[in-house]
Amino acid sequence: MTLPLASSFVRDQDFINALYIVAFGLFIFGLMGLTGPRTAVRGNRIAAVGMLLAIVATFLLPGMGHNWALIAAGLVVGTVVGVPAARQVKMTAMPQMVALFNGVGGGAIALIAWAEFIESSGYDGDPLTFVIPSLFGAIVGSISFWGSLIAFGKLQEVLPGRPIGLKGVGQQLLNLALLLVTIGCAAAIAAGGTAGWLMVALLVAAAALGLFVVLPIGGADMPVVISLLNAFTGLSAAATGLALNNTALIVAGMIVGASGTILTRLMASAMNRSIPSIIAGGFGGGGAVAGASGAGEHAGSVRATSAADAAIQMAYARLVVIVPGYGMAVAQAQHAVREMATELEKRGVEVKYAIHPVAGRMPGHMNVLLAEADVPYEQLKEMDEINPEFTRTDVAVVIGANDVTNPAAKTNPQSPIYGMPILNVNHAKSVIVLKRSMNPGFAGIENELYYEPMTSMLFGDAKASVGQITQELAAL
Ligand code: NDP
Repeated sequence: MTLPLASSFVRDQDFINALYIVAFGLFIFGLMGLTGPRTAVRGNRIAAVGMLLAIVATFLLPGMGHNWALIAAGLVVGTVVGVPAARQVKMTAMPQMVALFNGVGGGAIALIAWAEFIESSGYDGDPLTFVIPSLFGAIVGSISFWGSLIAFGKLQEVLPGRPIGLKGVGQQLLNLALLLVTIGCAAAIAAGGTAGWLMVALLVAAAALGLFVVLPIGGADMPVVISLLNAFTGLSAAATGLALNNTALIVAGMIVGASGTILTRLMASAMNRSIPSIIAGGFGGGGAVAGASGAGEHAGSVRATSAADAAIQMAYARLVVIVPGYGMAVAQAQHAVREMATELEKRGVEVKYAIHPVAGRMPGHMNVLLAEADVPYEQLKEMDEINPEFTRTDVAVVIGANDVTNPAAKTNPQSPIYGMPILNVNHAKSVIVLKRSMNPGFAGIENELYYEPMTSMLFGDAKASVGQITQELAAL
């Protein structure tokens, strides 16, 4: 039995708009939750409910009826591919996962723009609210899709992480030529061009631009690039929302665009790099870096220590500061670290954690891992708060962190990380570094800290080393 009154009510534009407004409220509320580890999971769920509401509202839009089956099929495919991928992905592989999801979003925007072009044989409509936003969506969506695929390939090591491309001016001229072709096609379409090849040429030139802009950027800068592409995808979604007169797309796209832009700026400033210098490329990814000594080139010698000696030093300390980094994430040592800290606290040792804003491979990486291991939030200290405390720190235990502790960032103007704020680990009375070898970190450069007289190295997988220290502590 049909209920015409109820059915016409839920299809009422005001009702649909009200659903959208509730959805936007939930997006923003959810985002607020993501500002702290304690509220992050709840924030994520709230935003997901918002997205569900937005999808329901979109289903109710007039004219959607005959597309339900297609949309449902798309939802099923997306769910079958997306849910297991998101569940199985390792925390350390999260940036490339974000790159892939973001790229798919950009690709969808470009396809929508293309479909609109085919359906109405060109872009015939108001220039400000239809033609320009559609062209913007097509160009930026295509750049984002292909650029994100390269970013994924580099981080997943399907492609070499080192910068790839023509040297210097050649690359810039090629990029300029591609940009001119893209703009030329867009201008021809805006002037009323209806030929299908114009749109194809626009999409292909924008795709090549996406490839050639991201290929020369080194692996170390890739998470910042992903965040930037994410912001672009958001803006292209908002533009498409304008063209399709869909408020949900406009609002969601602007939220992604704004938050992606803020995140990009925060990451770039935490690495003391400007966004134009990142786009110019050439940094990191394990390649040789001018002015920096590579792994194994250092003339000094390092002092190796044992878990037993490390445990004795820590047991008799007053303050131990744990400095986690990417290696802790790789080793999944966060639970073992928490157990070690508990053992120290039982002996009356004060334990704090020094959190560098770009330790690991994504913002908040260390906070998330340590929160997962139930480390009390009050013990996590941001860089500015902990740095003055290193002078009164008896033992700094560096667990799989490298670049974020490298004094070259302060002392060597030739170093590629010169100017990046670092954790002042070298001010501690004693430093114990847990890593597997003398291999460099993500920036591909030697770390002077390892050759300092107060530093000793405990070689091995971080989880195994921390476990051994805990056993030694318990046996003392
Ligand atoms: P690094 O990449 O500098 O160093 C990680 C260290 O962990 C390596 O030296 C490695 O040495 C060690 N390691 C790896 N696996 C293990 C293991 N299983 N057990 C023990 N040690 C291990 O990490 P940091 O966290 O210090 O610095 C992050 C870097 O990433 C910076 O260069 C930053 O600019 C960059 N970056 C970070 C972003 C972010 O948002 N967090 C964004 C963009 C870039 P070994 O192989 O010898 O074990």
